[in-house]
Amino acid sequence: MTREELFAKREQKLKEQKRRRLIMIGGVIAALLLVFLIVKIATGRVSKKNGPDSSVQTTNEVGASAGTTVSRTTESQTPAPTQAATDPAGQTADVTAAPAAQTVDETASADDTAVQGMTEYTEQGAAGWNDGEAGRWYKTASGQQYMNGWKMLGGSRYFFKADGYAAVGWEMADDGNMYYFNEDGTWDSTKKQKLVALTYDDGPSWNTDLILDTLAQYNAKATFFVVGVNQADFYTSELLREYNEGMEIANHTYEHVVLSHSDADTIVHQVSANDELIMSLTGGYQPTLLRAPGGGTNDVVHQYVNKPLIQWDVDTLDWQTRDAANTLAVITENVRDGSVILMHDLYQATAEATVDVVPTLYSMGYKMVTVSELAEAYGYTLENGVEYYSFYPEESPDPAIRAAYGGEG
Ligand SMILES: [Zn+2]
Repeated sequence: MTREELFAKREQKLKEQKRRRLIMIGGVIAALLLVFLIVKIATGRVSKKNGPDSSVQTTNEVGASAGTTVSRTTESQTPAPTQAATDPAGQTADVTAAPAAQTVDETASADDTAVQGMTEYTEQGAAGWNDGEAGRWYKTASGQQYMNGWKMLGGSRYFFKADGYAAVGWEMADDGNMYYFNEDGTWDSTKKQKLVALTYDDGPSWNTDLILDTLAQYNAKATFFVVGVNQADFYTSELLREYNEGMEIANHTYEHVVLSHSDADTIVHQVSANDELIMSLTGGYQPTLLRAPGGGTNDVVHQYVNKPLIQWDVDTLDWQTRDAANTLAVITENVRDGSVILMHDLYQATAEATVDVVPTLYSMGYKMVTVSELAEAYGYTLENGVEYYSFYPEESPDPAIRAAYGGEG
């Protein structure tokens, strides 16, 4: 069997699997809708009976909002790197929410967002700190565990994860930013998160789903420079998944044409035809960024591409090596705060590399954001026809950001 036949066969198989999955999902959604309707009718009666009780709800806003886990599918949060090392409570502190202290260690701080809940450990252990299988957890005076948020205990600040364990190492808190916690769980406010933009070219493809699965697991975002014909128009469901999960969809030309070898008419057509395809598939989203195939640019490209031209500072050469371990190694050895990493979601080895790249960058204190988010966070205003290779904060056009990161004034 030739390579093409193998791919075609695999393609066929994946499509079949997908169809079956869709039918199953349809059934589950119908069942959920039914349950939702029943619950809705039931609670509708209850709330009518009880009437509004706004005084109770407003005094406990902070605690209530902390009860939700970090959302993974909603629109991307704006990164706030300069705030990462400051007070996590920000502006949301609600002094009235502080309950009366019950034990010595449970004096509520105005910025506590941890809720009290139960896990299998709650029955075990005594009040206060306990050692569990995956770290330390805290039993409250009322016999529950702290989870899903910040808690000030004994003068130090901790972040309790959804499983009730205190975070250790780098962890994304409920505001979507990364914070560093010492071995004993205490927050180290001197360590600042870093930002990086993962970029994937030439897709979407049958490998894109694995990449999106991995990104979702770590609340990470990436930018996909998609090719129009035979990619975006063929892998529509992957493209829509990118869009719906808050990824940045960017333009990589309609037919992967090397723009620096093209005339003005071709350049304009290659960019606009891909824009139009993406807009029709997504219901109106127009990409704002372009990556020239092969990175090839010249004065004509600068003049006729009405978008910022995004290059990269970390080249994994994944298309050449097809080696997941090598891709991971290149990234860990070369990444720095503000880097743009080049990969290609055409290749299985790249998707497999991503499974390791994302948790590795997370454990190194990197928040993975889209290219547009990275530029904005570090004070770069993206201009049409201008090339960008990286967005290092110490080289930011914004003097305040430059100074905060040790750059030259
Ligand atoms: Zn390409």
